[in-house]
Amino acid sequence: MKLREIYKIEDINKKISFEVFPPKEPDKYQNLISEIKKFKAVNPAFISLTWGAGGKNNNSFELSKKIQQNGSNIMPHFTCICSSKEFVKTHIQTLENNNIENILALRGDIPDDKSLCCYDFKYASELVEFIKTNSNLSAGVAGYPEGHIEAKNINSDIDNLKRKIDAGAEAIFTQLFFDNEKFFKYLELIRQKGITVPVAAGIMPVLSKKQVDKMTSLANISIPEDLKQNIEKYSSSSEDMKKFGIEFAAKQCQELIKNNVDGLHFFTLNKAESSIAILNNIL
Ligand code: FAD
Repeated sequence: MKLREIYKIEDINKKISFEVFPPKEPDKYQNLISEIKKFKAVNPAFISLTWGAGGKNNNSFELSKKIQQNGSNIMPHFTCICSSKEFVKTHIQTLENNNIENILALRGDIPDDKSLCCYDFKYASELVEFIKTNSNLSAGVAGYPEGHIEAKNINSDIDNLKRKIDAGAEAIFTQLFFDNEKFFKYLELIRQKGITVPVAAGIMPVLSKKQVDKMTSLANISIPEDLKQNIEKYSSSSEDMKKFGIEFAAKQCQELIKNNVDGLHFFTLNKAESSIAILNNIL
């Protein structure tokens, strides 16, 4: 089912997706497939699979096929910053030939070694336009409730988000956030700018202090004071931290659902347990 059809459905249960990443070693694929099988308990709309920017770790397509063969819909991610038009054309044709209907169209982070890049595409909006011209894939794009790390300010970032929608993107998947107020404010701003496509909220269950520190060092993601205190409180016990992470994210999702969120997209870190527990608590 294409993104535009998925998010037309009213029932939030049918608009849940899980993000996973390709393990570095192909011998760990089987572990990931086992985790993905656990997601089936909540019948997700699709599994999304990340793509390494700069061509790193791009065994992603082979894994997409495996996930599909195991009976899950897949939305592969794709980053364009270091890709030639020729490569992108071949890649999107291959996806379509394998009955894949959706793609998350990203620019990707600019690599330290800029000589790796060919710059046929400078921004994700150009990739969306290229995908729409050369395929029937349904394209989703990334959105940043607290602004992208390179953006001058949230308003200019939303103007750039609008370029991606005007180029034909059909849904927005947000960066993870812990403060729902930031998400609600962002929704208000993007709707004011005339962006009407569905916005799936990015949720990451807290598993450890290290994981939260890493994510917040890479992106603009604020941590509410009570969350900060609880992360400190539970940092010596991974079981307590996991339990707390499930409770926190379940409350977050409940409030989002109460406010008619278009979809929930879980950053799972390749582990099904917390995301499934959150959904079992709320759906
Ligand atoms: P863009 O939309 O192109 O924006 C990048 C920056 O350029 C922004 O600051 C924007 O405001 C600015 N900009 C855009 N257009 C213009 C313009 N015309 N003029 C001036 N400035 C402009 N990374 C991966 O490597 N692999 C993944 O699989 C992956 N998955 C992700 C999934 C989600 C849900 C999210 C939220 C992010 C993901 N990322 C992934 C991270 C993403 O690649 C980075 O955040 C990257 O730095 C930006 O990609 P983008 O597609 O948002 O870029």
